This record gives sequence, C-alpha cells and structure tokens, in this order.
Amino acid sequence: MGGTCLLIRNIRPWGAQVTDLRVSDGRIAEVSPNQTPSPDWKTHDGAGAILLPGLVEAHTHLDKTLWGMGWRPHQAGPELKDKIDTERRLRREWDIEPHRQSMRQALLSIAQGTTAIRSHVDMDTDCGMEGFEGVARTRDLLTDQIDIEIVAFPQSGLLNRPGTLELMDQALREGADVVGGLDPCSMDRDPKGHLDAVFALAERHGKPIDIHLHEPAELGAFSIELIVERTLAHAMQGKVTISHAFCLGMSDRDRARGLTADVARAQIHLATVASAHRPVPDAGEVRDAGVTLCAGSDGIRDAWGPYGNGDMLERAMLLGLRNNFRTDDDLEHALRCCTYNGAAVMGLEGYGLAPGDTANLVLVDAESVAHAIVAHPPRQLVLKGGKIVARDGASLRAAP
Ligand SMILES: [Zn+2]
Repeated sequence: MGGTCLLIRNIRPWGAQVTDLRVSDGRIAEVSPNQTPSPDWKTHDGAGAILLPGLVEAHTHLDKTLWGMGWRPHQAGPELKDKIDTERRLRREWDIEPHRQSMRQALLSIAQGTTAIRSHVDMDTDCGMEGFEGVARTRDLLTDQIDIEIVAFPQSGLLNRPGTLELMDQALREGADVVGGLDPCSMDRDPKGHLDAVFALAERHGKPIDIHLHEPAELGAFSIELIVERTLAHAMQGKVTISHAFCLGMSDRDRARGLTADVARAQIHLATVASAHRPVPDAGEVRDAGVTLCAGSDGIRDAWGPYGNGDMLERAMLLGLRNNFRTDDDLEHALRCCTYNGAAVMGLEGYGLAPGDTANLVLVDAESVAHAIVAHPPRQLVLKGGKIVARDGASLRAAP
C-alpha cells in the first residue's frame, strides 16, 4: 500500500490536538502524531491547520446558476410565481445551459472544500429533461472530485402541469437519486394529490424524498402534517427531507414545537438556508428535538436572487447569525449542519475523520473551528477520496 500513501502532517482534526493523518487507497488509514513517512509517501505540511470532513452542500440548484456569466441585474417580481415565470423566460433568453453552469458551480464548491452536493434540478414541460441531462453529465464527469446527488424537482408545479410527473418518473429511471416536491397547497392547490404522487414515485423507485416547503404558518403546518402522515404510512422514516420549512419559524411557538416533535417522530430531516428574509426553523430547538438539520446555499446567483458563493463555512456563519449563535459550541453546531448532518441526510457512507472513513477532507488555516467559520479563509487543501482536488482556494480543474 506504500505507493498510494499521503501523509498530512501537523493538522488539528475538528480543532483538537496537533496530529498527523495518513491516507491510503482513498481512506483515512491512521491518525496519530509524529508518524514517520516512508520514502515513497507523499507528504503535506498542514502547518497547524484545522482539519474538517468535506463540507456538504445539502440544498442547491446546480442547473440554474448564472455564475461565470457576468453580472445580471435581478429582474423577477416579489412573488414565488414571478420568480418561476421569470426564470423560465430567462433560461432561453440568456442561454442558462445546465451542463456548463452546473460545472461552474460544482468547481466553485470544490475549491471551497465541498465534497458532496444535493442538487434539485428543474423538470417541467418546457425544459423537459435538459436540466437533468446537463447536471447528470457534470455528476459523471466529476465523479472522482465531488459526489453529486440529483433531486427530480417539479419547480413549476406537478399536477398543474400535466406531463411533469412522467418526466420525473423518467429521470428517476435514468439515475436521479431523490424525488422532489414543492408547496403541495399553494403550488398545485391539491396537497393530497401532490403528496400522494410524490410518495408513489418514491415507493416505485425506492428513492428518498426532498420537498421544498415555502408555505407560511398554518398553511405550511397543514402540509407538514400531511407529510408526516405519509412518511409513517409508507414506512419512510429517515428518508424524507423538508427543505426550508419556513412555517416552523411561525410566531406561535407552541404550535411550532408540536410540529417539530411530529417531524422528529417520523424521523424527517430538515434542510435550511438560514434565509435572512423569512422565518426559519430554530436550529437549537430542532437539534434538541432530535431532528437532523442540514444546510445549503439554495440558488447561487440565479434568476431568484443575486446572492451566494457556495462557501459552506460562510453558510455556517450565516446559520450562526440567523440563530443568534455566539458561543464556540453553538457555532460548531452550525458547522455540523454543513458537514455531518448533511452527510447523514444524503446517506453518505464512511463520512468522518476516523480511521477507515473516506478521505474527503478539507484543511483551513484558523485558530479554532469557530474561528474557521467566522473568518472562512480560503481552503488550504481539499481532498476527495484521498486525491487533492483543490489547493489555496482554487480547484485544480479549470471551469468551462
Ligand atoms: Zn431550493
């Protein structure tokens, strides 16, 4: 095994004592201080950097970013429907080509230490399978640099656009990983029909579910109740994620806590962006209720908004800001949402910093984990499956 070894010296796993870490055959072989390298091992001196497991972008939209297309002033109106309609128009006018754009965003993420992405990908009767095919090509091209999971996502509605369900079914047959859904009440105005269709697809293909739920307050609460019912009835505990779940940030905290308890009972996961302009689930409260909360950037520089850069350390900071986290312990919880929790939601095997785990690793120059989150400096080194994929904030592969 000697020839394939990489010894990373002088690093602090999750901010602990200085040690060395040896990678062999894509996995962490040994973590112990003062290892003596064989002459044929490659070595890297971490100079005391913090070592983290690869960051996990658990909610984004690779097919629609405008990254690398120059600055495009925001055009969409304030409502959800305005954004969806504007995006469908601009997709053609601006040639937002899903393969090129997903390559750009994936490489941006790799440069910043992300080693796994769950991407929702639009399918509708206008763009058909274009988005899926483009992102699937990116996934296959970058397979040894990042893990990409594709959610078949009915962005323009499911039942209100006949033909969409068939497209999702086709995408799932052809390698989509997760069944998406969207605002069962406000989008399709048929919550039972929408959710029954989503759960039926999941059952037919044996795939997990991830539903965008923007619905506010009591409307969203009603949708959550329906999702909980179906999760239990289909025995899909641990396989359903609700993204955003803005309604859990409702002002009636007793109602929100009751719903959170139901979500925990059904082992439903939550994904958050820590949105600054909407109520969001309370990260401490859902943790204490036993719910796995993961995090993502959502859309990065797209027709929905001009923000985002794919940096999941910065996302941990935003999660901290949104939840009024100030202590190191709380900040570390924010980073767990962007690492271990995301890995759990995506079902990534061998994730972590222990011997035997896959060597998906990131080095950051910082004094502590909390400092790394707040300062989020350029990543010193990023490894995927034991191979170096980025160095000093830059991906080794050039973007198209
Ligand atoms: Zn989204």
